[in-house]
Amino acid sequence: MNFYTKGWFLVIVFVCIILVGLSPATVRFLRARSHPSPNSCLNELRKLDAGKQQWAIENHKTTNDTPALAEIVAYCMNAPRCPQGGTYTIGRVGEPISCSIPDHAKAWLELTESKK
Ligand SMILES: [Zn+2]
Repeated sequence: MNFYTKGWFLVIVFVCIILVGLSPATVRFLRARSHPSPNSCLNELRKLDAGKQQWAIENHKTTNDTPALAEIVAYCMNAPRCPQGGTYTIGRVGEPISCSIPDHAKAWLELTESKK
């Protein structure tokens, strides 16, 4: 490689690095890291909800019974935790579980309502 081809090679490498750096996927990745979406909380809420239903079935509970968080966690692989520090309200079996972060609670309600 002579001086000129080496120079062009470096220019091409730099252009590639810049294109990768500005790609929409990279921008989305960086944005997702700085503003976590409620999706990871929804996964935790999903686990808790499944645990609550399982608890109700195994213990012959009605939709008016309210389990303690510890009783539900026993049915989950690990203790569900809101990634943004929200606290969960379990509520009665017939009610949806809620996160104290309004965006999470809203997203969860929309998800559970859409399944009905
Ligand atoms: Zn949450």
